[in-house]
Amino acid sequence: MSGAPALLQARRSAGVDPDALGGLLRDLVHEFRPARVQGSVPGHIPHLAAADFRHFGIAVAMVSGEVRTAGDAGEPFLIQSISKVFSLALALGHEDGPALWSRVLREPSGTAFNSLVQLEAERGIPRNPFINAGALVVTDHLLDTFPDASDQVLGLLSGPAGGGAVNTEAFESELARSERNFALAHFLADLGNLRNRPSEVVRHYVRQCSIEMSCADVARAGLFLANDGVGPSGRVVSASAAKRIGAVMLTCGMYDAAGEFAYRVGLPSKSGVGGGILTVVPGVCSICVWSPRLDAHGNSLAGTAALAELADRTGWSIF
Ligand code: GLU
Repeated sequence: MSGAPALLQARRSAGVDPDALGGLLRDLVHEFRPARVQGSVPGHIPHLAAADFRHFGIAVAMVSGEVRTAGDAGEPFLIQSISKVFSLALALGHEDGPALWSRVLREPSGTAFNSLVQLEAERGIPRNPFINAGALVVTDHLLDTFPDASDQVLGLLSGPAGGGAVNTEAFESELARSERNFALAHFLADLGNLRNRPSEVVRHYVRQCSIEMSCADVARAGLFLANDGVGPSGRVVSASAAKRIGAVMLTCGMYDAAGEFAYRVGLPSKSGVGGGILTVVPGVCSICVWSPRLDAHGNSLAGTAALAELADRTGWSIF
């Protein structure tokens, strides 16, 4: 029995040889790039309506500093809710961070990410920071410290290399269709869990969702989550906060399919309706996969399938 941890360690780090990994990623592109239209795109975000179903990119940034990519990994896409990981990290990295947990819980919601019903029934305390209501509270929390909250999130994502940018056209068209997010923000205000003006909070929230980046940039940006809080440009959050963000990703990061995703892939992940998924292999690497067509829960169809295969072939599942 005493040999088990060492064996597990060996299994998890197997396949980290960067060249072998590069070949594996190319295999995944070959196997999972969609050949026909399947799944859906979100109806409430005009910019995503015309997404080309054939897109498929994957990037792995390793704690050693090596990055391997394949397919459309250099193509910018709307990160949407993947941004919620970074706004949470920004909030938790600040001295006021722990106070956030009196305003938002850390439980899976079991309902749609933009549900109004649950928020009202639970008196304005969102279930977690990755559903829209929770992310609006995080944005509100950030606005107390950073009047330019969405620029700060962009700065954290982009790093000194400046790999991301807000897509202004996508931002404006989504903001014009954000009735539900405005409703959530007004509910939060009415129930005493919003300090800034609802219009301002929604504007910053939608703006951070409208950041465009490539898989390679997102994987690099998320590396701190796999590396005890330290990213390519230095410490982002404490090791303890990085571990806990990973826990919230595992339990709440894949809309109301977090259980199914944990079963299939077994890694902390955060999905966005732009078709991107950020996945963390603690101590090893961060991964970003992108393919725009979504399953019934809002998760990338091809991206999820490719991550399941990658986890199987590398032994990277945390279980
Ligand atoms: N901006 C999107 C919304 O608020 C984000 C959805 C998502 O990626 O989960 O509906």
